[in-house]
Amino acid sequence: MTPFTFAGIPTRVIFGSGSIARTGAEVERLGRKGALVLSTPHQQAEAAALAQSLGPLARGVFARAVMHTPTDVTATAMAAFAASGADCVVSLGGGSTTGLGKAIATRTGADQIVIPTTYAGSEMTDILGETDAGRKTTRRDPSIRPKTVIYDVDLTLSLPPALTVTSALNAIAHGVEALYAPDANPILSLMSVEAMRAFKGGLPRVMANPMDRDARGDVLYGAWLCSTALGYVTMSLHHKLAHVLGGSFGMPHAETHAILLPHTAGFNAVAVPDALAPVAAIFGGSVGGGLWDFAKSCGAPLRLADLGLTPADLDRAAAIAVENPYANPRPFGQADIRALLQAAYEGARPTN
Ligand code: NAD
Repeated sequence: MTPFTFAGIPTRVIFGSGSIARTGAEVERLGRKGALVLSTPHQQAEAAALAQSLGPLARGVFARAVMHTPTDVTATAMAAFAASGADCVVSLGGGSTTGLGKAIATRTGADQIVIPTTYAGSEMTDILGETDAGRKTTRRDPSIRPKTVIYDVDLTLSLPPALTVTSALNAIAHGVEALYAPDANPILSLMSVEAMRAFKGGLPRVMANPMDRDARGDVLYGAWLCSTALGYVTMSLHHKLAHVLGGSFGMPHAETHAILLPHTAGFNAVAVPDALAPVAAIFGGSVGGGLWDFAKSCGAPLRLADLGLTPADLDRAAAIAVENPYANPRPFGQADIRALLQAAYEGARPTN
């Protein structure tokens, strides 16, 4: 018997095709009078269309969200929020837009509705990473967690194939680390394994035909499950390394997760073979090898070298990664991390 604590999942989730049409009803259900709609510049047209469909429930659009939630952008958005008279935010987009919505919500107490259009998985979590003067800090707080998430598969049809595959592997990484988290619980482990099945079945079909709505639905379903896992347990080595490479070396978020995953999972499989047995069973072969084969077959990037890192960067990243202790099922030293990064740099297929 393994003791566990499961606190429940308070976020309301609406999943389907065309479900963005329910946004107004959800604003009213929260008892709010008007929403500021958030997006990146790239998704401004979609945000404007949503605001138009909300009619008087929309108080404006702020379409300047960017990666890593810089505090100066948040300050501008806060001013826009105050001037608009809105009492909630609707974040339409990927993790960057969700991050901005969280930053406003935790500062103002405004409710958040998130409409995710990638698989990155920020929407179900109480985690906010913010960048100030080039330094990214991450914290968890109940005020950060969105109240309502509307998954509309139609909005994911436009996600470019390259971001589709890396974003999906980013999601799978949440599920893998949930299986061996120090605070793992059976509900989230069930959800993580179910997610991997959904990705295994759905992602190759999406890559073959990005407009396949059923396959997109399977992948988005997997993304929801993995986001939930990320939102309720502690992440380990994989997320730490992705954070180091993103924060200190400016590596792109989804690609970095995608390339690291087979290596971090294979590294930890030695210590927790039972917890990770479902990963090997679903993807075939060994844990790391199966994930690497799956990533390759879906056309994912495999080499950190292709992201512009140098061997000297790997030395420094390994040193940063062991500066502070954190949870991980397999103990490691700097040389272990350096070797793991070297394998990811070369794109070697892990054996474990
Ligand atoms: P993103 O939000 O930066 O999106 C990348 C680009 O793709 C943007 O230009 C966006 O407008 C565009 N895009 C998004 N969906 C699209 C669609 N369906 N069609 C066409 N274009 C689309 O990327 P991301 O990977 O979703 O998010 C990365 C950020 O999220 C990072 O800053 C990361 O730290 C953060 N994140 C946070 C958490 C958390 O729990 N706090 C979890 C995961 C990721």
